[in-house]
Amino acid sequence: MSQSSKFTQAAEAIAFDEKHRNTIRFNISRYDAAVAKGMARYRNVEKAKEMAAQIKRDVLANWDSYLLEFEKNITANGAEVLWAADTNEATDYLRQILTDNEARLLVKSKSMTTEEIELNHVAESMGCESVETDLGEFIVQVAGERPYHIVTPAMHKSKGDIAKLFNEKFNMPIDSTPEEMTEYVRQVLRKKYTSAEVGVTGANFLIADIGGISVTENEGNGLMTTAFPKVHIVIAGIEKLIPRMSQLGLFYPLLAAHGTGQQMTAYNTIFTGPRKANEVDGPEKMYVILLDNGRTDVFADAEGYESLACIRCGACLNACPVYKTIGGYTYDTTYSGPIGSVLTPFLRGFKDFSHLSFASTLCGKCVEVCPVRIPLTDILLANRRKTVEKGLRPSAEKMIMKGFGYVTSDRKKMDFVPGIIKNAATRPFNYMAWGPKREMPEFAKKSFSQQYKDKKQD
Ligand code: SF4
Repeated sequence: MSQSSKFTQAAEAIAFDEKHRNTIRFNISRYDAAVAKGMARYRNVEKAKEMAAQIKRDVLANWDSYLLEFEKNITANGAEVLWAADTNEATDYLRQILTDNEARLLVKSKSMTTEEIELNHVAESMGCESVETDLGEFIVQVAGERPYHIVTPAMHKSKGDIAKLFNEKFNMPIDSTPEEMTEYVRQVLRKKYTSAEVGVTGANFLIADIGGISVTENEGNGLMTTAFPKVHIVIAGIEKLIPRMSQLGLFYPLLAAHGTGQQMTAYNTIFTGPRKANEVDGPEKMYVILLDNGRTDVFADAEGYESLACIRCGACLNACPVYKTIGGYTYDTTYSGPIGSVLTPFLRGFKDFSHLSFASTLCGKCVEVCPVRIPLTDILLANRRKTVEKGLRPSAEKMIMKGFGYVTSDRKKMDFVPGIIKNAATRPFNYMAWGPKREMPEFAKKSFSQQYKDKKQD
């Protein structure tokens, strides 16, 4: 079955799943309330967004020099930078590092880039246990699932769902409270942190001027992941750059306010290399795998390149009426929601994933909430145009659109066919286009001009 058909089938099923809807509605309503408070803390949030957008535009205009500056500075601090053109190269590096360091256990903080290369599977295939340490990621890993959302991986689960899962997997009481479950996970993870050979993180920002990796998180698990293991591996997309450390003063609150509604995320750490000779703790070795994996293809696109400014705050997902209806798993991609629909055709091919760019109402809410002002709806439209130009839409659709264009271009042609025939002709599409649970509005029996004439004669 094609990705597009899988998407349509999954969307149709989940859109009418009331339990899923209620869970998402509840969790996003909490997010909305927190974000409203977060925004209220700003004197001028639009100005902050404009400044952030300009910095990211500058990064894209001088991408090569900032990347080299970052590499030079972090290498001088003792880290090894490894350039990975794609998933294969990144996982080859990973395998080599795990082998060289005889890794049997790896702890990992939340990172969508590691999801992109399916790091957990790669490590497990080498006999190295890979443990997620972010609570949400831990929950989806235990459930055998992928992250549902780029910021809140277990957003689709209620506390009852998680208690049931922990009852099945860890024999905890079915009525366990969130505090009891969190305490249990904490105890499990403490042992993992102190016995893992390798800790893996992503990077929220790659800071060029100091050669630093900024990781921002709420649970302290990122710190623990890097404090005990002797090896720290960072896996980061090459677009995560900011030029100067001082700009974190702008990006930290902006990311926190849009991601969770916080003023600041609880733990903000900057890693600048492995342990120095005069230091008593921290990893002995640090590797930074810089992943392209299609990002330079995005950059080469005249419209799509702006999506590389994304700071993965997740705001566009939470604002999107389509995401809220079909949920994260329907996309079947690492990045879901509006930013996923924009990026995935570039990262994984228009042939299989261009349908995502059509899965949008173009309401513009995503653009409104984006902290770095990415013109998501413009890029979605451009992706649609490219899909048609590449001849990737079904030929039946082309014919239908041609016929539709011919008929609707002229009022007389539109009125020529009576409503009763129009209804009969469009009925088959009712099911195809609208799904089995909705009724397409009917054409009036008489055209508007006919009704108008009749009224005048009365
Ligand atoms: S596109 Fe904008 S709103 Fe969406 S995740 Fe990226 S930064 Fe956040």
